[in-house]
Amino acid sequence: MITLALEDLNWQIYGCRKCRLWQGAKHSVPGEGPLNAKVMLIGQNPGANEDAVGRPFVGRSGKFLNKVLAENGLKREDLFVTSIVKHVSPRNRKPLPDEVAACLPYLIIQINLIKPKIIVLLGQSAKETPRYEGIEYMEVIHPSAAMRFNKMKDKFREQVAELAERIASISNNT
Ligand code: SF4
Repeated sequence: MITLALEDLNWQIYGCRKCRLWQGAKHSVPGEGPLNAKVMLIGQNPGANEDAVGRPFVGRSGKFLNKVLAENGLKREDLFVTSIVKHVSPRNRKPLPDEVAACLPYLIIQINLIKPKIIVLLGQSAKETPRYEGIEYMEVIHPSAAMRFNKMKDKFREQVAELAERIASISNNT
């Protein structure tokens, strides 16, 4: 049932015209991952690489993210990866408040269907994600920023290591 609900939601996103962003996009990027994921990673919105293929975090920052997850024993395929806004924005600008507001209901449905134990907010824009009781939230540096600056890279690695510890403690308690 959840599979159907998520697929149905994806189709709604593919056809969405609720804000201007669909006009400049090649693909919608609803997100991907297992339906029973304990962890959701939420970024800002797709970039050019993601727009080209319709999948989240597939560019350089996605590869960096996968690498740091793997360094900490985490598999990207075990996590549900999405973003607060599902279409690319012109010249990769930050989504505007009305675009975030228009798109947020899709993320809320995803959270309610997947019911993760932990939500990782990647970067500033993802902090707009609503908070729910019973879910742990972690604010983490966006991998694209972490890639560029050594200090941020170290901090990002620490944050992902902390995520791995939190996941282990959840797994031990369930
Ligand atoms: S960004 Fe979100 S609200 Fe705007 S058109 Fe795309 S799916 Fe719809």
